[in-house]
Amino acid sequence: MSVPRMRVLSAAVALGVAATFAAALPAAAAPAAAVPRPSPSNEGPAGPPALMPNGRVAAPPRVTAPQASSTCPAAPYGVYSYAPGSGKTVALTFDDGPGVTTARILSILQSYGVPATFFNIGENMAASPSLVRSEAADGYMIGNHTWDHPDMTTLSASAQAAEMDRASAELHSITGTWPCAFRPPYGSYNSTTESLAQQRRMKFWTWSVDTEDWKADGSSSSYWVNRIISLAESEGGVLQHPVVLMHNAPSGDPATALALPTIIKYFRDRGYTFVDLAGNTTPQGWGSRQASQAAAQASGAVDVLYKAADTTLGHHWYNPRNGWHGPVSMGSQVINGEPSVITSVPNTIDAFWKGADGGLWHVYTTGSGWKSQQPMNLGTLGGPPRAVAQPYGTEDVFWKGTDDQLWYATFVPGSGWSSAHSLGGDLASDPAPVASYLGAFDVFWQGTDGNLWHVYQTPGHPWSAPVNLNVGTLGSGPAAAGQLSGAEDVFWHGSGNDHLWHTYYTRHGGWHPANDLGGDLASTTPPAPVTSAPGTVDVFFAGTDGSLWHAYTTVGHSWHAPSSLGMAPLGSAPFATAQPDGAEDVFWRGTDDHLWHAYFRSGWHGPQDLGGDLYPMP
Ligand SMILES: [Zn+2]
Repeated sequence: MSVPRMRVLSAAVALGVAATFAAALPAAAAPAAAVPRPSPSNEGPAGPPALMPNGRVAAPPRVTAPQASSTCPAAPYGVYSYAPGSGKTVALTFDDGPGVTTARILSILQSYGVPATFFNIGENMAASPSLVRSEAADGYMIGNHTWDHPDMTTLSASAQAAEMDRASAELHSITGTWPCAFRPPYGSYNSTTESLAQQRRMKFWTWSVDTEDWKADGSSSSYWVNRIISLAESEGGVLQHPVVLMHNAPSGDPATALALPTIIKYFRDRGYTFVDLAGNTTPQGWGSRQASQAAAQASGAVDVLYKAADTTLGHHWYNPRNGWHGPVSMGSQVINGEPSVITSVPNTIDAFWKGADGGLWHVYTTGSGWKSQQPMNLGTLGGPPRAVAQPYGTEDVFWKGTDDQLWYATFVPGSGWSSAHSLGGDLASDPAPVASYLGAFDVFWQGTDGNLWHVYQTPGHPWSAPVNLNVGTLGSGPAAAGQLSGAEDVFWHGSGNDHLWHTYYTRHGGWHPANDLGGDLASTTPPAPVTSAPGTVDVFFAGTDGSLWHAYTTVGHSWHAPSSLGMAPLGSAPFATAQPDGAEDVFWRGTDDHLWHAYFRSGWHGPQDLGGDLYPMP
């Protein structure tokens, strides 16, 4: 269906003109100058707004005060139209969404691993909140593009402020975050617009490359695809820091999605670094995608928790500004087994453990200090808990019940913790949960029949029944890692040999047969997998020679056979965490009961003695 966007622009401009006349001038005396002048780089109309399930346009949220966040850096005065960063940088921006093309644009950006910025319209976010959550969860920057896309120069100061505040309030109600960037519709603004945005800590952005993609008006013809590519390349290729204007309006911009891979390759081939308008070179969304005692954040922060020699919870952490800290005791509660640590939204860290009373305990911080340790009152656990998080704040914690069934509780922002529920099954091992694509969870375990079993949940659906993956008998409990693409990798110690075994799932290919990756595993403790950069999976284990081993794959490559990283001697099986820029951190208990560390940052480094006094192995 083709939607005539020009007609909507004409109507909007006509309304704006009428309002200006009514407010300021007798209609008969209106000079031509009172008509909003066409911007020299007119962005184009947004098209019809997205509709709510009731068929209506969303009503704006009530705002009574300026909506501004102290989490945004102070906005400099002025209008910006060149991408941040050194060398050659390019910023891809998508206005007027979310809309029917948004999911395709997100999946293209994700497959190339490039960041981008979405300037969303408030009423369109209200109609499609799940797409806004996808943008936020995948780590893309979201800017303010007003509530309903007026020409700001036709509005009073208070009406301009309401346009900004309503859109910011809507974004905050959906994602819990505030916009730190503003772009005026049509690129049309006055000094009032600039001051209002600056007061709200929103940096003011236009663009330097106009693809004029909105003119395709819903067409996906090669004429429009080629025209969009040609404008992006001819205007952008001569600039050091282009900001490329594109769209994802509710009615759809299929030509934009079709042009996007070519545009990305063009700039990549010419040595440009992709950035969002905050200067980030990778998407910033990140949650703990596998259960571990360590949790890393996109900021570079790493938190490690463990059972200390005095049986209480010990803590080491890494701050990218000033290095490693710890050990610090986290409280007086006795812990059974090792804790499970996750990070969901930035700065939020949760740790779970089985307490002395056999129940589930946790402690957390949202960035302003750790809260006190608390029982969760969810009954008695049959083993230690294992937790995973989704990057928009949902957390799930799983454990083997005293009845050998799989149990879980879930935390949803705004709703709090659920009660404990059984997912059935017949567990011989502790569960190995992963978070994969947005809203999807999968939990693996070794059944009492020795086989690999799992249950899974996809967005909008209840949990599946337990399913046997039929990979044969396992020699240990499984361990698993997930990726935002939906890919999942599961590992275990073989049963007929001490090799590392593996199976994996992709959203398009389903489950693959088990394969023997080789190696020589020292114990029947599960191996420790992580996913870092998209497509990269790295799995660690202690070799029979006492050193740290790993096997890994990167996007487009088959598995590298297990090899030793040295780093001997290990006093326990390793555990690991990773960051979306490819950084990886591996930890283990040394034979001296200290916490030891190796890390990947353009090459492997370590081992590093972090000190502390860990509980001796049983
Ligand atoms: Zn727009």
